[in-house]
Amino acid sequence: MHRKSITEIAEDLRAKRYSSVELTQTFLTRINQFDRKLNSFITVTEEAALKAALNADKRLADGTATPLTGIPIAHKDSFCTEGVKTSCASKMLDNFIAPYSATIVERAADAGMVLLGKTNLDEFAMGTSNETSFYGPTLNPWDCKLVPGGSSGGSTAAVAARLVPAATGSDTGGSIRQPAAFCGVMGLKPTYGRVSRHGMIAFTSSFDQAGPICHSAADMALLLNVMAGFDPKDSSSVTTAAPDYSATLNESIKGLKIGLPAEFFGAGLDSGIAVKIEAAICELKKLGATVQEIELPRSQLAIPTYYIIAPAECASNLARFDGIRFGHRCSNPVNIDDLYARSRAEGFGSEVKRRIMIGTYILSKGYIDEYYLKAQKVRQLIRQDFQAAFEKVDIILGPTTPTPPFALGGKVHDPISMYLNDIYTSPVNLAGLPALSMPAGFTEGLPVGMQLIGNYFAEAKLLNVAHRYQQVTDWHRQVPKIYPAA
Ligand code: GLN
Repeated sequence: MHRKSITEIAEDLRAKRYSSVELTQTFLTRINQFDRKLNSFITVTEEAALKAALNADKRLADGTATPLTGIPIAHKDSFCTEGVKTSCASKMLDNFIAPYSATIVERAADAGMVLLGKTNLDEFAMGTSNETSFYGPTLNPWDCKLVPGGSSGGSTAAVAARLVPAATGSDTGGSIRQPAAFCGVMGLKPTYGRVSRHGMIAFTSSFDQAGPICHSAADMALLLNVMAGFDPKDSSSVTTAAPDYSATLNESIKGLKIGLPAEFFGAGLDSGIAVKIEAAICELKKLGATVQEIELPRSQLAIPTYYIIAPAECASNLARFDGIRFGHRCSNPVNIDDLYARSRAEGFGSEVKRRIMIGTYILSKGYIDEYYLKAQKVRQLIRQDFQAAFEKVDIILGPTTPTPPFALGGKVHDPISMYLNDIYTSPVNLAGLPALSMPAGFTEGLPVGMQLIGNYFAEAKLLNVAHRYQQVTDWHRQVPKIYPAA
């Protein structure tokens, strides 16, 4: 059961081969069996899950089911979930029970999906390896000595290990795509504004975007059909209606123009990854696509630009965690300043503090023009590079990450080298474009992720290309031999 795609499970549920309760029980048992070691979940909502599954079975019986009714899902623990602890993997929110649900949590529940629990992440989604979590790191299911990527590493590891068929993530500079690549699963960052951010704890509001994580383009289309669309509760949500993403999956890609950015294939790219991406390009050519080299010269500036704008916005967003309204409060404060200072000093981990300090500095008088405003201008230049490229090509293709998954502890003391892992993903957030990462093979036994980048609102095109590729390859069906709990 656990190896099946969402599409197959949905068929089985309708054919009554098993019930949603049996299915949910199977996944809960797997979580019990494997997750003590993997650490991909922060909270498992077993009781509520079985109740939701029972309801789903009723909907399947009385004809009110949607294509996703009865299918289990897990949400990254940065999405508020009513009545459930929503920690953002921080001590600051270790005691926080969300009073309402994020829009995408609500939409998944309304569709009849069964919530199994909340997944681990880097604290406040700041990280690339899942090592900054207050609850300890998640391990990579392909090799437990390696990181799963981050910040949505709990979600991608849980999906890879078949502890749940689908999960949500959020992507500010690569946090859906980079861990998807490291764990050998598929992850999509939609166009900025396509999926509601309401109830997703903010990191960098002008980059943050929620998206689905699963195994195949067909499954992803079903998930996006539920998640995408206007939300009056999110002021950056776009009003244009979302299409039916399943409808165009099978379109021919004959004549599709693929752009290969020279900057994504240069020095710094692991040679094992390069070989696999070349092989994937050959497959797409066989399907009728044509390729041409393009240039994204200013994408080289994405990491420094990102690391100005992201800390600035996060310093401002995290000001709300003051020990008063919600979250951690220090004991016996002597006055209000002591309350603020100690609650924050005790509640936040060191990576979060580093970013708050950098961001506060960048936003201070005298520096805001020199850093923040300049970074906003560079951001426009990066966006222009993409727009110029999309005059010539339909989609842009390259590796998702420059390296395969790295060792746990390998980069924790070298933030710059950690930050550089997002070199191919962060330009996309600066431009607000949609992009997905999908499995494209293995190098020395470790998954390789291929990134497809589209023009604004071209999610359907990306899923179409991914689906055609997955019809002639089976990388997305590979299952890691995960280790049982110690
Ligand atoms: N790795 C990047 C960072 O550390 C991106 C994180 C994200 O996309 N949430 O900020």
